[in-house]
Amino acid sequence: MTRSVMRFVPYTIAQDQTAWPEYVARCVSGDEKECGAESGSKSDPADVEKWMTNHTRGTGHLRYRRTFADYAVFEPPEGAEGGRVIPGEVVEHARAIEVSHPLAIEPRKATA
Ligand SMILES: [Zn+2]
Repeated sequence: MTRSVMRFVPYTIAQDQTAWPEYVARCVSGDEKECGAESGSKSDPADVEKWMTNHTRGTGHLRYRRTFADYAVFEPPEGAEGGRVIPGEVVEHARAIEVSHPLAIEPRKATA
């Protein structure tokens, strides 16, 4: 009989540095019907503010809805080998104040 040993590594959720965050503003000025003009997706919030300034200058509209989106990835702790995450083996859910999400991973075979 073979015995397999599982080890548990506290992964953390971090912003994916390989993808730009996205900032968007939409003009929601108007009583009956909102304007709806959109800045389009920008990677720099300053570009969104520039668009808002120009839109307000041209229309007198003052109210916007801003949204932010980014990509997040689970990362193993520094120095830990990644191994392979086994789906369904999340052993503990994070509490609100914790950023650590232990996941079960299979031990990586030693290569030497
Ligand atoms: Zn507008």
